[in-house]
Amino acid sequence: MAADMEDIVRLAKARGFIFPSAEIYGGFRSTYDYGPLGVNMLRNVKNAWWRSMVQLRHDVVGLDAAILSSPRIWAASGHLENFTDPLVDCRNCQERWRADHLEPAPDGALHCPKCESTDLTEARAFNLMFKTFAGPLDDESNAAYLRPETAQGHFVNFSNVLRTSRKRPPFGIAQVGKSFRNEITPGNFVFRTREFEQMELEYFVPPDEAAKWFDYWCKERFEWYVELGIPRGMLRLRPHEKEELSHYSAGTSDVEFLFPWGWGELEGIANRTDYDLKAHSAASGEKLEYFDQASGDRYTPYVIEPAAGATRTMMAFLLAAYDTDEVAGEKRTVLRLDPRLAPYQVAVLPLSRKDTLVPVAQEVLRLLQPIAMCDYDETQAIGRRYRRQDEIGTPLCVTVDFESLEDHAVTLRDRDSTVQVRVPIDRVVDEVRSRLGA
Ligand code: ATP
Repeated sequence: MAADMEDIVRLAKARGFIFPSAEIYGGFRSTYDYGPLGVNMLRNVKNAWWRSMVQLRHDVVGLDAAILSSPRIWAASGHLENFTDPLVDCRNCQERWRADHLEPAPDGALHCPKCESTDLTEARAFNLMFKTFAGPLDDESNAAYLRPETAQGHFVNFSNVLRTSRKRPPFGIAQVGKSFRNEITPGNFVFRTREFEQMELEYFVPPDEAAKWFDYWCKERFEWYVELGIPRGMLRLRPHEKEELSHYSAGTSDVEFLFPWGWGELEGIANRTDYDLKAHSAASGEKLEYFDQASGDRYTPYVIEPAAGATRTMMAFLLAAYDTDEVAGEKRTVLRLDPRLAPYQVAVLPLSRKDTLVPVAQEVLRLLQPIAMCDYDETQAIGRRYRRQDEIGTPLCVTVDFESLEDHAVTLRDRDSTVQVRVPIDRVVDEVRSRLGA
């Protein structure tokens, strides 16, 4: 069942996935804080990406570059000049809009989405980078920018990584971290925020292999979302029109997700050519090339970049997993999250708070904690606790009841089927491990 945005925003706040930031002060400009469940899930999204992009490959290494770095990076990369969105003001209500997001009305004119006026200013380029000052003086010589993408860290460290990792093209550098953009119109919950997290790979290839690797990464990245549970019908790969391409790109395709308001980008896969390495080489005077000792060839690699948003992707996983059904005549909400993404994989629940059950439940908890992220909850009727775990996507519940004291076994309940089976405590770790595929 497709969720609507209100369902997800409500659940995210009520259960502790995502809170509006600075809520006690009335909130702050489309910023969000990730609560106890959200922080687990976001970490799981990033770990799933890291596992697939770094751990399970021999040709990719990781990097964690500084967020605040030399402004010369952004001059050389073209971001100071080109990282802009076209901004228009409504002269009637003073609201600001991204011109490329406004749909012309049937009369052909652009209308302000708030007041419907057609009295809009000409579009002007608005740079999306957040500017600040590094050091005690607020003057231009100390100007610095928060990175608007994690990429560039990869390029300026190209020689460092090449030398220390002993990789050769085709090889990649992966990075996950915060990026900042002063978006004109943030919105749709965490789809577009000014502070967000990205997961980016820069994959360096011989120039004549760029087309092949571009196709490879488009397929590979599309399947990553499918493998983690997004139905194929909610995903598509959309090649960019020529006029949409970024200043560095020779070709881009987006992995798009069917959001409640329509298709939206989760990830862009771009052929950045040798644009960045050449630009940094020219600006810094350092050679950023690969020298193939066997053939004697020296060349600037091309770069294929799959660039995904972690926070936006987490929201897509929530939307795709949201479902409602009926159990024993009662309606329930269930997040059918892949166990690798669920905030908790297991909930340990003593049937009652009686002194006799709690120590056994805590013993079971201690057995399971090393292999799974576990919740522990001893209050309320068991049925309500199951509903709560269903609603936050916990794949397995382990219940300790009075029989457990006699038979040294627990009840294992499956989130999706709600089927319950009895498992001896000394087999519970193996059983949970095999069910989670861990
Ligand atoms: P859009 O067209 O939506 O502004 P973009 O094409 O500028 O996105 P990229 O520069 O390709 O985005 O960034 C790669 C990924 O980073 C995007 O696919 C998206 O998942 C994520 N991302 C970009 N901007 C934001 C944002 N403001 N908030 C949340 N995620 C973002």
